[in-house]
Amino acid sequence: MRVDKLLANIGYGSRKEVKKLLKTGVVVADGIVIKDPKTHVDPEKQQITVNGEKIEYKEFVYLLMNKPAGYLSATEDDYQETVIDLLEMEDAILQPFPVGRLDKDTEGLLFLTNDGQLAHQLLSPKKHVPKTYFATILGKVTEADIDAFKQGVELDDGYVTKPAKLEILSAGNQSTIHVTITEGKFHQVKRMFEAVGKKVTYLKRISMGPIVLDEEELNLGEYRDLTDEEVEALR
Ligand code: URA
Repeated sequence: MRVDKLLANIGYGSRKEVKKLLKTGVVVADGIVIKDPKTHVDPEKQQITVNGEKIEYKEFVYLLMNKPAGYLSATEDDYQETVIDLLEMEDAILQPFPVGRLDKDTEGLLFLTNDGQLAHQLLSPKKHVPKTYFATILGKVTEADIDAFKQGVELDDGYVTKPAKLEILSAGNQSTIHVTITEGKFHQVKRMFEAVGKKVTYLKRISMGPIVLDEEELNLGEYRDLTDEEVEALR
């Protein structure tokens, strides 16, 4: 990759600014000063330093966020804040995007990556990646609802959902539940409860595939890198 592109990508400024930086002779690859912005370098094979500091280059970024309500699962929006606004510059610069969507008012586990292949796999309907949610429901959730979810419920557009596992945590005028689905239809959990005459008043995703959100570790709005083992487990 061209050295000017590499340095711009990791936050050393625009291509023009990087060109100026290179002229000052502070960029060194394997002991050789690089001044020509067109020079090709391989950050994975060569040791590249700027002002004596080794640059950390990675092609892919894999993040696990505890999404707060109020943010769109999108990369940009003219009017509203997106989950990308919650990222540090050094992560945002690698242009990650959210893997699937959580509604604006939904909280919890959201992956962000710039690895299109992994995102595609996780979202593929063929993979049936299980997603578990905690929800507060207006109305009393019953055994009949558990059965209905197990059979599949008919959504407002006529679509019948794949079997879902519903677990009642507490039941009353307000109920709390865990539900696990293997699909990702628009507003799916909310619409599944509408199908059985109830309303979701709070929704949080707590796991996706093998990864469980640890709320002690990540407060709302916080995120961390996935470990190499976690990324492998998601493939
Ligand atoms: N189901 C919903 O209704 N909303 C979400 O954000 C995720 C699943």
